[in-house]
Amino acid sequence: MPQHIRSAWFKTLGQLVAVLAAAALVGWLLGHVWPVVTSAALGVVAWHYWRLRKVLLRLTARQRMEPVRGQGVWNELDRLLYRGQSEMRTRKRRLLDMLRAYRAAAAALPDAVVVVERNTQRVQWFNKAATTLLGLQHTDMGTPIGDRLQPMSLSHWLAAGRNAEPMLDAASPVDPELRLNLRLIPYSDQYWLLVARDVSKMLRLEQVRQDFVANVSHELRTPLTVIHGYLDMLDPTDFPEWTPILAEMQRQSQRMTQLVEDLLTLSRLEAQDSLPDESVAMAPMLATLKREAEALSHHRHTLVVVDEAGCDLWGSNKELHSAFSNLVSNAVRYTPVGGTITLRFAREAEGAVLSVRDTGYGIPQSHLPRITERFYRVSTSRSRESGGTGLGLSIVKHVLNLHQARLEIASEVGQGSTFSIHFGAERVHPRDPAAASLPSQSQIA
Ligand code: ADP
Repeated sequence: MPQHIRSAWFKTLGQLVAVLAAAALVGWLLGHVWPVVTSAALGVVAWHYWRLRKVLLRLTARQRMEPVRGQGVWNELDRLLYRGQSEMRTRKRRLLDMLRAYRAAAAALPDAVVVVERNTQRVQWFNKAATTLLGLQHTDMGTPIGDRLQPMSLSHWLAAGRNAEPMLDAASPVDPELRLNLRLIPYSDQYWLLVARDVSKMLRLEQVRQDFVANVSHELRTPLTVIHGYLDMLDPTDFPEWTPILAEMQRQSQRMTQLVEDLLTLSRLEAQDSLPDESVAMAPMLATLKREAEALSHHRHTLVVVDEAGCDLWGSNKELHSAFSNLVSNAVRYTPVGGTITLRFAREAEGAVLSVRDTGYGIPQSHLPRITERFYRVSTSRSRESGGTGLGLSIVKHVLNLHQARLEIASEVGQGSTFSIHFGAERVHPRDPAAASLPSQSQIA
């Protein structure tokens, strides 16, 4: 017990003893000790009740009341309670200020922020931007968000909760020209945060970029075809001293043509939301890929084709062929002479996997996360030497996205690489017996 409390305690005790002793003395003088002492004791109790009442009144008063001066136990209690109350008030004020500041910051955010109750999906709170971007009004407080944003058909997305896709792009219910990027953040067991960002400007810029690349590539195509055509017409035997220069010019114009073609392919894929769902017969597809690999390899590699899936795919024949042949041509180009390239089509879990394995140079792990970016190369000189444009894997990624398929890359430097394309169950269907079949394993050297 602190010193000042102890001394207050002893003081009150001393007062009690003094009152009772005085009462006993007066009682003795009057000849009625016990009635006088009892009256004095009752007086002391009454006085304590009165002090207790004062403390209670102060505690429940709306206005702040200074503690009464004095040194007794009640005064100490009063002072302690007053101090506790003051501290609590300061803390409460600080918390309120903080809450106000947070609210002001959330309200000033350019993104729409909506607090949604998890179970009922009812709107609990939203900021100003939610009115401009999502059209929420104060009357929408407490209504289910899915109903309120009806044209956006969010119900399924919201119902999926934690398993929902992390992001969703949709047109704003206020203005269909506004494109929104929506994110659902489960920040507590009870509440979710729905954040909507206006990405119209970004999408417009992206569109400008895409159009620019597509237009430039398109414009370059015609002059390149002319140059390429004239170069082909030149007979090196007519200009023996120009032979190496002509060969280099032909190689470079071929490279530029390939670059333009790849850029156009990428632009075309980017502009598409979906592709036609045709039946892709995998046996003839594998046969074609094998033929192309042979032509590229000039029989300098061992090529193994394993077709054990016994199923075909749904998708675009043309685009899937372009993706597969990019992987096969990479395997041939990045595998030294004498290496083995294995093309395998197999079932897995519900879906199917097409993998291209080589025993080539391999790719260091640090490069794998960025390998599908445009013009990203592990070794620029090796890519150029092998006639690469740096766009092959980008095309693969885009084609796979349009087929909801996934690319997995496993590689070890000096050992080789495996590029696996995983297709979901919805992309797989039983093989058409009429489709040409390939021996389950064929090997050519
Ligand atoms: P490129 O036209 O340069 O081959 P890609 O987009 O097809 O462009 O591939 C990107 C880079 O990935 C290549 O430059 C190469 O460094 C690396 N790469 C791709 N496939 C393989 C492979 N099978 N083995 C080793 N490296 C590879």
